[in-house]
Amino acid sequence: MLYIIPTPIGNLEDITLRALRILKEVSVVLAEDTRTSKRLFDHYGITTPLRSFHAHNEHAVVERVVEELAAGATMALISDAGTPGISDPGFLLSRACHRKGVKVECLPGATAFVPALVASGLPCDTFHFEGFLPHKKGRQTRLKYLSALEHTFILYESPFRLLKCLDELIVHCGAGRQACVARELSKLHEEVVTMSLEELKAHFTKKEVKGEIVVVVGGHDPRPGVSHG
Ligand code: SAM
Repeated sequence: MLYIIPTPIGNLEDITLRALRILKEVSVVLAEDTRTSKRLFDHYGITTPLRSFHAHNEHAVVERVVEELAAGATMALISDAGTPGISDPGFLLSRACHRKGVKVECLPGATAFVPALVASGLPCDTFHFEGFLPHKKGRQTRLKYLSALEHTFILYESPFRLLKCLDELIVHCGAGRQACVARELSKLHEEVVTMSLEELKAHFTKKEVKGEIVVVVGGHDPRPGVSHG
């Protein structure tokens, strides 16, 4: 059996009682960065052995892990923050478990895009999660596709690329499109700002952009000259 377990995206209190219990009960926890997870484990007195499972070794180790699970081991998969599989390793292992008949259970819990979307004040009934855009090849194609969506879409972005990303969104979606930058969610310097793309650009040009960022963009309104939000 494999448990996929969300861990906090900032505030260490954002982990469920069930997640803590299962992390203590399984035989091994597969972790993206064992040093990061050790800090969480120390905070909660969890002593379960940690084993590396990250983007650079998942292809090499996935089959062995699934063999162990199929032979009866119970393990948990965690990432550095949030839900594994969401812009983090997890998909390959989940798929391999399904193919081998190993039961997979993902606990509900922390992830960055849900609080960003819901706090943004932009329509959240239907949405598209994009995650990170490609840095170079294919970036403009994705932006063009996203700009035509009639529902809200969500990007993960680094603070160093936020201004470039806002510029590109202005080109593709228009300066007046409503959008939100959600920064440092659940942390001391949390900031959630919703305004037009042009106003967001001005707001974040005034200061050094720091921390972790989710960009939420309102959908395209097909009526001439109108943006959602
Ligand atoms: N698995 C994670 C999840 O469930 O959201 C996402 C991991 S991805 C490698 C890291 C990105 O998530 C960051 O670059 C940022 O875009 C977003 N993120 C993570 N923590 C955040 C936070 N506290 N505030 C805002 N964005 C965050």
